[in-house]
Amino acid sequence: MFKLCELPWFDGLYKSIYDVLSVEGKLPHPCDITILPPDAVEVRETVQAATWVDARTIWFRHQPPSYTTFAHELIHLVSGKPVEFEEAYAYNLAAFAVLLAERGIVPPASVVRLFEVSLSEIMDAIREVYRYPFKDIVEYFEYFGIIPAFVVFKENPLDDSWKLEIDWQRYNEKTIVVATVAELVGMAEYDEFALDVLLKLLERASRSSTSAPSKPQSSNPSGSERRRPNQAVLHQKVGVYLDEETMRQIAELAEAYGISYSAVVRLAVRELYKKIKPGGRG
Ligand SMILES: [Zn+2]
Repeated sequence: MFKLCELPWFDGLYKSIYDVLSVEGKLPHPCDITILPPDAVEVRETVQAATWVDARTIWFRHQPPSYTTFAHELIHLVSGKPVEFEEAYAYNLAAFAVLLAERGIVPPASVVRLFEVSLSEIMDAIREVYRYPFKDIVEYFEYFGIIPAFVVFKENPLDDSWKLEIDWQRYNEKTIVVATVAELVGMAEYDEFALDVLLKLLERASRSSTSAPSKPQSSNPSGSERRRPNQAVLHQKVGVYLDEETMRQIAELAEAYGISYSAVVRLAVRELYKKIKPGGRG
């Protein structure tokens, strides 16, 4: 049995992923993490890895594992996560940890803190980074053609108007924050602004968690010269709920009719909901 620090593949991006996730001393030392050999565990084919948190032991079906699998299992070793969100943390933050490692960014606070922020903190960060007064999280996502699971379509039969709003009956703030962070993580791969929102949230988390401000924060040199949200660029890969082909068609329609991209998205969303609705949704 090897310790993580002894494995030849624990280098390069694997090492950077470890560095991203060990911020705030959240991970054991690499020489205190045991890695079981691939043949040590027999489980069904679909299981790629497993972690025994108390024993600080990880098993990977393949060595080296994929970067995301590696990050996922390390996140299971990160202490202080709410039990009911264990997999939500691991699934959603693994890709983000890899993204940060690839870009050589060591976050100012542990990435698990992203799920501890409030919805209003997220909105503050979004408005600041995008420099646009989004009314709420629904409007923010709608702008990009994303309809998260916590959003419902409300129709007013009297004047045939409609709007999207948060489904507060089925979701509470915590689940909305988790879903929102998950979407932002997905967007961060192609939208620098979304990445900046997440980093800003972590920056704030680092300030609120350390009572002694030992080092003064230097002002962000890139902060003064922000680009405006560029729809053409930002919409390019907003394929979370709209696939690429649909996105292309929407862009073409918008251009042909000389209307804004978001106007077309709104119409498309409306048609989509009309199709879903006849079945009735309790
Ligand atoms: Zn897991």
